[in-house]
Amino acid sequence: MRIVRFWEMAGKGGDTWLSARWGMFVDSLIYPLAQAPYLDVLDSGAYAPTVIGAPIPASTVKLLAPAVPSKILCVGRNYAEHAAELGNEVPTEPMIFYKPPSSVIGPDQAVVYPAISERVDHEGELAVMIGRRCRNVREEDAASVIFGYTIANDVTARDLQKKDGQWARAKGFDTFCPIGPWVDTSYDPADRRLRCLVNGDVRQDSTTALMVYSIARIIAHVSRFATLDPGDLILTGTPSGIGPVLPGDIMAVEIDGLGAIHNPVIREGS
Ligand code: MG
Repeated sequence: MRIVRFWEMAGKGGDTWLSARWGMFVDSLIYPLAQAPYLDVLDSGAYAPTVIGAPIPASTVKLLAPAVPSKILCVGRNYAEHAAELGNEVPTEPMIFYKPPSSVIGPDQAVVYPAISERVDHEGELAVMIGRRCRNVREEDAASVIFGYTIANDVTARDLQKKDGQWARAKGFDTFCPIGPWVDTSYDPADRRLRCLVNGDVRQDSTTALMVYSIARIIAHVSRFATLDPGDLILTGTPSGIGPVLPGDIMAVEIDGLGAIHNPVIREGS
């Protein structure tokens, strides 16, 4: 099941966008849903999103980030070659930081290059969406709390990351968390090719098989200190090949079987 959020154009040729809705993407149609799909859970534990109304041609809607998280947990240095390229060791347990929900944007929305940074990097990543409220999840139970998978770009102001020591600002600018184009609820994330391209040039080309800490281990680790809520996101770290982007560039993150998300970079104030 591919889950999207979207805006629909009202009226014929009108310029009014109706409010954002969740939907189920099947072939070239979007079936509108009554609410966030992870809220429709059967007694069996299966998700059964409630379709309301007629399907809408996907070509007539604008896709938004398929995520309204209460929090976004991220893993730093979860690929050995990426840790090494920035002169860092692989941490002895998962290293966690947050991005704020205000940093989320969707497909084709612009990443704003802050005037107070001189180095902004792309970081293509696999993202996990949580489906159930949970705490202290055991590794062997982690699969039961996952709703699905999507693509993320952990955009980073690298100079401010070094300057601040703490990463809240460097990772947390508005627009620094492109998510999408959809959440796939039946996806198998094992050994998937992950690429990041800038203006069509391949910058990162790796596989999720090279993660140091598994998704199950990460969920166990973060749920030891934070209650995870339905819709929360976990970004699982970026492989090697990170590098700078400039205003005017177009970033693409592709993960085999999950599609791709494209985002242009624009200068702040433009
Ligand atoms: Mg990252």
